[in-house]
Amino acid sequence: MASMDIDKLVAEMTAWRHDLHAHPEFGFEEKRTAAFVASKLREFGLDDVAEGIGGTGVVGTLRRGTGNRAIALRADMDALRITEQGTVAYCSTRPGTMHACGHDGHTAMLLGAAKLLAEEGGFDGTVRFVFQPAEEWGKGALAMLADGLLEHFPFDEIYGLHNMPGLPVGKFETRPGAIMSAEDNFEITLKGVGGHAARPHWGNETLVAACATVVNLQTIVSRRLSPADIAVVSVTELITDGTRNALPGLARILGDARSFRPEVSARIEQQMRTIAKGTADAYGCEVEVTYTREFVPLLNDPALVDHAFAAAAVVFGTENVVVAAEPMTGSEDFARFLEHVPGCFVFIGNGQESAPLHNPHYDFNDDALIFGARFHAEIARQRLAAPDAGQ
Ligand SMILES: [Zn+2]
Ligand SMILES: [Zn+2]
Repeated sequence: MASMDIDKLVAEMTAWRHDLHAHPEFGFEEKRTAAFVASKLREFGLDDVAEGIGGTGVVGTLRRGTGNRAIALRADMDALRITEQGTVAYCSTRPGTMHACGHDGHTAMLLGAAKLLAEEGGFDGTVRFVFQPAEEWGKGALAMLADGLLEHFPFDEIYGLHNMPGLPVGKFETRPGAIMSAEDNFEITLKGVGGHAARPHWGNETLVAACATVVNLQTIVSRRLSPADIAVVSVTELITDGTRNALPGLARILGDARSFRPEVSARIEQQMRTIAKGTADAYGCEVEVTYTREFVPLLNDPALVDHAFAAAAVVFGTENVVVAAEPMTGSEDFARFLEHVPGCFVFIGNGQESAPLHNPHYDFNDDALIFGARFHAEIARQRLAAPDAGQ
């Protein structure tokens, strides 16, 4: 097969990225983005392009040779409810919505990989290009899975990437096992009897009980988890129905917990329920605890991390590849795919000058496009190597 003109591909990916950046769409509303992706995949001559998977998800399928293995490559498409403050020419045209996490770049890179693999081939089997909606909500991967992703578009392994501000362009990081944390949300509602601020003994107010609960929750990480387990329990809001001279009959405590192992998440929930009940009892209040799991921990398959290293070494150069990165207490919807299929998630540099993710001045670095596209293509080729490859 003919070798592609890489400069031309970079120019195309840059143009796609700027177009997507100017037209950001919030989770499950990625209609224009999904139509853009599907039309490009059809233009590249993929064997099949399916739209509307899990809402606005798109899955492209490319087959070569006779191999019966399939590798999935995944990108996310959604933007955030943030007003862009940058001044680039391709700035968001939609006030209040912006690509502040670089999903425009992720989408452009996976499109670039699809074009590269469709034109050059170099593999034996099936590549699935998975463009998921609503990553930021932690709901898009589940929606695609519930819509039959694995039944209709089966694959043996899945790979995904995220850009990393602060890491120089051309650098690559990953790690075996837990690389990103679970995110759990909780709400503890205390009910008592509100009343006059001057006569607390006539009612049974909830604010002091709520404060005691917040303090007692601090013992989950410090006294109930192993020091070897990384975890965070953060109370972020305390809301009551009290006013200046009236004690509250209702108090709500909201927060967020991070951990890297399902057993730790379960332990946090169990301890939280015990503490909330025990504290409420001591203060004579009623209590209700809602504990939800928004993101599961992202667990890289160790064998596939080795494969990602081999592919990254070709694209980035061995000296630019780190496979012992520190785990991060951020969360990623990609983890949901790994509950069903082994995979590996990696980070690629977005530059040391890059604004942080979710910052109104953030912008994806176009110099990173070719690294991501080539990494996607290389891992697919290596994992679907033709029987005579290397001879
Ligand atoms: Zn994000
Ligand atoms: Zn992101």
